Amino acid sequence: MTEFNTKLVHGKPQNDNNTGAVNVPVYNSSTYIYPSVEAKVKYDYARSGNPTRNYLEEQVAGLENGYRGFAFSSGSAAIHAVLAIFKPGDHIIIGKEIYGGTFRLINEFLKRWQLEFTAVDTQNPDEIEAAIKPNTKAVYFESFTNPLLHVTSVKATAKVAQKHHILTIVDDTFLSPYLQRPLNLGADIVIHSATKYLSGHSDVIAGMVVAKDKELAERIYFNQNAIGSTLSPEDSNLVRRGIQTLAVRMDRHLENAQKIVEFLQSRKEISKIYYPGIAGTRDHEIAAKETDGFGGIVSFELADGLDSTKFVEGTKLIQLAVSLGAVESLIELPYKMTHAELSPEEQLKAGITHQLVRLSVGIEDSKDLIADLGQSLDKLD
Ligand SMILES: *Cc1c(COP(=O)(O)O)cnc(C)c1O
Repeated sequence: MTEFNTKLVHGKPQNDNNTGAVNVPVYNSSTYIYPSVEAKVKYDYARSGNPTRNYLEEQVAGLENGYRGFAFSSGSAAIHAVLAIFKPGDHIIIGKEIYGGTFRLINEFLKRWQLEFTAVDTQNPDEIEAAIKPNTKAVYFESFTNPLLHVTSVKATAKVAQKHHILTIVDDTFLSPYLQRPLNLGADIVIHSATKYLSGHSDVIAGMVVAKDKELAERIYFNQNAIGSTLSPEDSNLVRRGIQTLAVRMDRHLENAQKIVEFLQSRKEISKIYYPGIAGTRDHEIAAKETDGFGGIVSFELADGLDSTKFVEGTKLIQLAVSLGAVESLIELPYKMTHAELSPEEQLKAGITHQLVRLSVGIEDSKDLIADLGQSLDKLD
C-alpha cells in the first residue's frame, strides 16, 4: 500500500476498536484512564493527543512524506504554531504576496514578540539570498499566491536556504499534497489551511502542518500542546473524510479549470487571465516542473469599463463568497472582499485591480459553470 491515491483512502490502520469499524472512531473523550499511577499511557489528555486527530495527523504526514503531522483548529493557528518555534531577534524572509491573515499575524502580532521579517519576491532566488542576514532563520512563502497565482520554486528556494542553513517553510494550501509535495522538493515544513482542498466541502475550519524531521517535529509539537489550538475530534474526522476523495475532487477541479480558462480566452470581455496552466510565463515554467497540476483557482480581469461588481453578483450557480477549494464554485472580487484590508496603493502595487475576479472552480458540470459565467458576461455588454 504505497501509491498516493491508495494512501488517501487508507491511512495508517489504528486497530484500536472492538467493533470492526472500517473508520477510525470519533473519540470524544478529553481524558484517558491510567491503569496505574506509574503506567506509561499513550493518551492521557486530548489536547496532548487524541486518537481521531492522531489518525489524521499520520494520514497527512504520510501523504507529504514527512516525519510527523499536526492538526490545528485553523490554518492560521497552524501558521502561528510554526512561526512560534522562533525566538525574539530571529529574522524570517517572507514572500511579498502572502495570505492576508498571515500578513496580519506577522505584522500585528509576531512583530510584538521581536521577530523580524523581510518581504521579497520569492520567485527570484537571488532576492531571497540578498535578504539573508546573520540572524535569518527561515524563508516562508506560498507556492501559488493568492489571488494572482504567482508560482515560487520550492526547489530553488530550498537550495538557497540549505546553503545558508535556514529553514524552508511552504504554505501549500492552493495545491494540496495531490498536486505538490514540498518536502520531497527540499522544504522543511509544509502548512495547509485544511479548510480548503483537504477538507473540500466548506464545512470545517482546520489547519495542518507536516515537519520533515524529528527535531522540527518536537518543536512544533511543543507549540501545538502548549498553545493548545488543536483540532477537535469531530473536525478531525471531517478533514479525514475529505482527504479520502482528494484525488477525484482535484482531478475534476483541474479539468473544469482548464475548460473555464479556454472559455474565458474566447471572450472579448476578459482582458487578462491568471492561471499557471497557461504557457509562456515564468509561473507556468516553474509549475510545470514542480507540480502535478495547475490547481483549481482561476483569476481574471474584466476589460476596462465593464462593471465587475455586476459581473460577480450576476452569476447564479457560482456563489459570491470568500474561501476556496471546495466542491462548489465560489467567485469574489479581491479588492472589495479578500484583499479589502490593503490600502488602494497597496492593492495597486500588488496587482489587485478593481477589474480582478477570483474564481474557485468547483466540481460541478463544466457546461453549467461556463453557461453561468457566460450569462453574467452577456449582461455586461
Ligand atoms: C485560508 C488560508 C489560510 C488561513 O487558513 P484558515 O483555515 O482560514 O485559518 C492560510 N493560507 C492560505 C494560502 C489560505 O488560503
